Amino acid sequence: MKKNDCKICSGATVIIRDKKFQIDYYLCSDCEFIFMDEAAIVPPEQEVARYKEHNNSMENEGYVNMFKEFMKVAVDPYAERIKTALDFGCGPSPVLATLLQQKGFQVDTYDPYFAPEKTYETKCYDLITATEVFEHLQDPLQTAKLLKKHLNSGGILAIMTLFHPGDAASFSSWWYRRDSTHISFFRPRTFTVLAERLGLKVLTFDRKNVCVLTK
Ligand SMILES: [Zn+2]
Repeated sequence: MKKNDCKICSGATVIIRDKKFQIDYYLCSDCEFIFMDEAAIVPPEQEVARYKEHNNSMENEGYVNMFKEFMKVAVDPYAERIKTALDFGCGPSPVLATLLQQKGFQVDTYDPYFAPEKTYETKCYDLITATEVFEHLQDPLQTAKLLKKHLNSGGILAIMTLFHPGDAASFSSWWYRRDSTHISFFRPRTFTVLAERLGLKVLTFDRKNVCVLTK
């Protein structure tokens, strides 16, 4: 595997160069995964500072509604088979975890910066959510593999990350890319290939940002 080969499918990539900020990205010709050149990735201290700028609490109606929309697609249709859940990458305030608890699920949280205790290590879950997580991952395949390991058979892996627009020109002017902590970008096809590689099944996508897989 060459340095800039796709981190999901090992396929060949083409370079997308941001001349203004001097950042290179690589777009996979097969699975459409885009990833930032490792030299441009910000160090963890800056990453945490950036997360703390967000106003992510139960009082922020827009933020709560975003999760309610997510749950309509990714959780509610499967609620009958869910008793236990892990919110992986919960962030500084566990809004989604609270909403999941309100459904009657037993919920654990994990976040490398804000809830670092790895409670999940000895457990498996009926549902794992990873919202606004995958765009921050340097090695999404590895993380997806870890999450699969902690899913019960028939369990749901529900991911939310904004799908990129597809072509290099639209990607270059895309606002979502401007957050310096966003380093990995996906399309439904990317998750389909990722699922095949890991032996997961795709249950559904929405048009915008939701991907639901099962084990
Ligand atoms: Zn690929």
